[in-house]
Formats: sequence, C-alpha cells, structure tokens
Amino acid sequence: MREERCGDLTLLRFEILADAPRLAHAVAGRPHNFAPHRGPQRDEAVRRRRQVCDLLKLPFERLTSPAQVHGPDVLAVEEGDIGCGRDGRESAVPHVDGLITDRPGVPLVLLSADCPLVCVFDPDRPAVGAVHASWKGTVAGAAGRLVAMMARTFGSRTERLRAGVAPSAGPCCYEVGHDVRRLARTRLEQADRFFIERDGRLFFDLWEANRRQLIDAGVPATAIEVAGLCSICDRRFWSHRREGPETGRTALFIGLRE
Ligand SMILES: [Zn+2]
Repeated sequence: MREERCGDLTLLRFEILADAPRLAHAVAGRPHNFAPHRGPQRDEAVRRRRQVCDLLKLPFERLTSPAQVHGPDVLAVEEGDIGCGRDGRESAVPHVDGLITDRPGVPLVLLSADCPLVCVFDPDRPAVGAVHASWKGTVAGAAGRLVAMMARTFGSRTERLRAGVAPSAGPCCYEVGHDVRRLARTRLEQADRFFIERDGRLFFDLWEANRRQLIDAGVPATAIEVAGLCSICDRRFWSHRREGPETGRTALFIGLRE
C-alpha cells in the first residue's frame, strides 16, 4: 500500500486500486479512532469519518456501514440503507459483515482492530464491495461470498475484479487455539496450509486464507493486493490483540464518486 499524509491524517491506499478514475478508497488508522461506539476519542470518530470522506471527495451524508457481526453475509445497498451506520453502529445495516454497491456517491465504511477487511472493485459496471473477515468470517467464507454477491447482483465477471486485503493481524503474531484450526478444517479446502506451527504455538494466516478464497472465487492472483501490514506489530493500526477490547478502530473507506 502507498501511504499519504493529509494534514493530521495518514491514509493508505492499495496500489492495485490507485488508477481507477471514479473509485476512491483509503485505510485510516491511529492515532485517530473511527468507531463512535468503542475506544479512545470516540466522540471524535464521526468528525474524522467526515474528514476522510471530504478528502476522498465522497459524500459523508451517504456513508453506509454494515453491523459487523462476525458472519460471512453480504448485502447489496438498497435505497433505505443509504446513510445507515454513518454515525454509529446502532444504525448500521443489520446482520451483515459486508456491503456491495454500484451506486455512485454511496461510500462504504468498515471497521477493524485486527480483523482483515477485504475490498473488491469491478471496473466494468463499475461497482465496489467490502467485507469484514474476522477469523469466524474467514472460516465461514466471507471473501468468497463477497465475490459471489458481486457476480450475482451486478453480473461482475470475477476475472475482471481487483481486490485488496487491508492491514490486519498477520501470521507473524496471530496466535490461535487448536479449536480454530479444527473448525477451519470443516469449512475450508486444505485448511492446514493456513496454519503455521512455531515453537509449539499455532498461528492463523488470515491473509493467505482470504487471498486463496478470492482466487478460488475467480479473482486473478495478479489482481489481489495483500497489504502485508500486521496490525498487532505495526503501531500505525489499532489492535484488539495488543491493546484489548477498548482499543480504537481502523477504518476502510471505499466508494464510487458521483
Ligand atoms: Zn505481526
């Protein structure tokens, strides 16, 4: 990803999404917290969201967010969803971890403190989508569902999609219990290749698990950018693992300009 300073904000952008004229996106993290419901300076979160939307030339008023319930489900944004979750989680689009849209001027925002956020872009329709792929969502196939929803809803040709996996818990740090691998084995093809044993400890490679899901769903490997930045050991990002449940949230914004 490419890092850019904009006043007191630091924005990161995927190289693979950088040259699309109507697409705007960014990942924004510490020191600012983008969650109005959790973490430090939460009363500043909505203002910070607006600041990022303004920089991206996307309308903050129509910023839309999924509730993020650690599931794999993805919905297409309908008229009544627009602006839901803009000011906080209680109004977010319920039940789902991902949203897709082909509507210009409807930016999406998703939050993370270690969980991968996966975004996709269809340059032909054009359309965008993003999903919060927590370990439970990853095991349940969230990234694959995101791509499938783009194809089903917008007729996206998966071989034309571009995808990014945002900064999140990396295989360097993301230790899990054997129960996680056991569950993954029941849901993911060849799940063992996403788990690394080191010094008697088990690590889950969420990045590779999501990259593989995108490939299996039809996205070309060359069109996938894994940020490769670990939220646990890279202090530019908020981390639940490092700082506990009262940590802030890093945000991914993505949308089509009007
Ligand atoms: Zn790490």
